[in-house]
Amino acid sequence: MNVTDAMNAVVILVAAGSGARLGAGMPKVLAPLCGEPLLAHALRGILGCGEVGRVIIVAPASHVGQCREVAAGYHRRGRGSVRVDIVTGGADRSASVEAGLAVLGPDDGIVLVHDVARCLAPSDLFARVISSVRAGHPAVVPGLPVTDTVKVVDGQGRVLDTPDRGTLRGIQTPQGFLREVLQSAHRQSRAVVTSATDDAGLVERAGGQVRVVAGDHRALKITSPVDLIVATALLQGGSYAG
Ligand code: C5P
Repeated sequence: MNVTDAMNAVVILVAAGSGARLGAGMPKVLAPLCGEPLLAHALRGILGCGEVGRVIIVAPASHVGQCREVAAGYHRRGRGSVRVDIVTGGADRSASVEAGLAVLGPDDGIVLVHDVARCLAPSDLFARVISSVRAGHPAVVPGLPVTDTVKVVDGQGRVLDTPDRGTLRGIQTPQGFLREVLQSAHRQSRAVVTSATDDAGLVERAGGQVRVVAGDHRALKITSPVDLIVATALLQGGSYAG
């Protein structure tokens, strides 16, 4: 048996952002999408995977109680074998991930970090990332080919470079890691000012190898109101099956 087969897979669901750009008048985690909060959609995808043993929801300090109620609803619907915990988030995304890392248990050997903003990420995407970590890749991210031409620009809007599009991937979450790889990358990032916008970026800076697996268009990031329209269309069009 591979050593990773015995490890529990945990999802740290970072959900403590304000959601100001969405303009829903409440934190994004509780913003409604087809009548249910984003948190409910996210939990459906995670718990439907069957490979996740624990979920740590990192909630905004102002709305921990409401998040707890949404999560409890999922347990009542017969998914109670998965342990669900709620902790309070930090000032930025990295601090919120660290709040989740701080409550890991000794058996939690595989850690996935997932943005609640990608609440329609389907269960098979979680399974794909977990299985790649179990297969021996210590850091795994889902990615999709980029369809736009991407340019590197300076602060004055001057184009510096046009990378070959074939080499680019749009990176999503859930991002999966061996626990010690992720913890060590976060420890090292605390010592320096870093602009990494994802956890795999911290692993790269620490000298680690990151593997890309196929992403999924349903794992789109809901940031602005137009993204809610797209997510609604995905749900109503039946292209989402958890
Ligand atoms: O704002 P941004 O796009 O970086 O947010 C990505 C994810 O990080 C969102 O799911 C958001 O809820 C989460 N986040 C967090 N704590 C913060 C800021 C963002 O959990 N302080």
